[in-house]
Amino acid sequence: CFCQVTGTLDDCACDVETIDRFNNKEIFPKLQKLLSSDYFRFYKVNLNNPCPFWTDHSQCGLKYCAVKPCTPGEVPEGLKSSSYKYSEAASQDLEECEKAEKLGAVNGSLSDETRQALQEWKKHDDESDRFCMLDDVDSPESQYVDLLLNPERFTGYKGPEAWRIWNSIYEENCFKPYSVKRPLNPLASNSGLCVEKRAFFRLISGLHASINIHLSARYLLDENWFEMKWGHNVSEFQLRFDKELTEGEGPKRLRNLYFLYLIELRALAKILPYFERPAFHLYTGQPTEDNEKKKLLLELLHMAKSFPLHFDETALFAGNKKEAIKLKEDFKLTFKNISRVMDCVECFKCRLWGKLQTQGLGTALKILFSERQIEAMPNTSNTNPSFQLSRQEIVSLFNAFGRYVNDLHKCQRAGQLSVTVVKSQ
Ligand code: FAD
Repeated sequence: CFCQVTGTLDDCACDVETIDRFNNKEIFPKLQKLLSSDYFRFYKVNLNNPCPFWTDHSQCGLKYCAVKPCTPGEVPEGLKSSSYKYSEAASQDLEECEKAEKLGAVNGSLSDETRQALQEWKKHDDESDRFCMLDDVDSPESQYVDLLLNPERFTGYKGPEAWRIWNSIYEENCFKPYSVKRPLNPLASNSGLCVEKRAFFRLISGLHASINIHLSARYLLDENWFEMKWGHNVSEFQLRFDKELTEGEGPKRLRNLYFLYLIELRALAKILPYFERPAFHLYTGQPTEDNEKKKLLLELLHMAKSFPLHFDETALFAGNKKEAIKLKEDFKLTFKNISRVMDCVECFKCRLWGKLQTQGLGTALKILFSERQIEAMPNTSNTNPSFQLSRQEIVSLFNAFGRYVNDLHKCQRAGQLSVTVVKSQ
């Protein structure tokens, strides 16, 4: 079997089989549909941020690492306008208001309510709630990428460069000296790690497992002048996850992926009130499509909420108040650092998906630990909530979750190996 894990997950009252059934039957089909829509497939990202930690990294020359950004004509007009940032009912007005403000003009057609809404958006600085660094989407370096045309798959990125990234994540940014050359077991009860730090390690390890499942499941099997064959490479998967071949580590890493899945599912369940507000729109400028996709999104979130066996995040940061605050700050800083390490990944395709997945996980953590702000949110249409998500956070949250949904689905179907043939360009 591709996925060798069964039974109850540590730190959660949940078994793998229940998650698999729920994922494959309920979540997978709906999410697939949602992620192929314009709102979710176009992701704005800056792949040219310099690496903040070292300067001696080389240029990646691997052809499968290339990312093809969108031409301006490919991106829906609605996303290119500044309204997308707000995703609120008054977004058109807000855009006008912003333009008027920039010109120093007084636009008499704007209501006081709209003007006030814009001011609140501007005032709201949620930097302190964030667990990860976000790109400046207004920078000329940021570009739209069509995620469906740049899928995460095998790129050939490996060796000392890739190891330096993983090592910096585990050794310097994971609370525990953990070397990729000399792995310790941070999950062992004698590891001395508290539950929060253990959870942190498991999230990162789950993310690493997800990347490695994807590269094994969309592997370059063969290539000639005319075509490339992409498909499942079972021996690559076994080398990374088989119990014997990995001295027991592989199945633990797969279990960490389930843990990550549950954390993100929990965040989706919690964020339902934010998206349920009538003022929220998945704005692309195509009203019928936007409404349909919002309906689909809400169905998905209700489904996430119906899952009974969640991870209990209230168990985290629940000890001594002063220590808990300090621990939470460390958690945030460490995760922010990991999101910055993604700018050091030489392979652009790996950088794209690495950034998206860390931003998605950072957004999930922001949601989980903003319970009070989410509960205090007004649901009337024109009031801006104190809790906000940018389009970049929303797109990364759902696409990152999509990776894990796909991984679990792939694991189940590994018996039916599939190969895709793509014409060489
Ligand atoms: P690695 O995966 O590099 O792992 C290094 C060491 O870390 C292992 O030997 C093991 O000790 C430990 N380890 C491995 N997995 C886990 C885990 N789940 N939990 C804890 N410890 C673990 N390659 C692609 O082909 N396509 C991609 O899209 C892609 N994206 C990447 C994104 C990022 C951010 C990074 C850093 C790398 C990416 N790579 C990608 C490279 C890929 O992850 C591997 O590094 C590469 O395939 C080499 O694998 P490896 O066998 O040397 O082990």
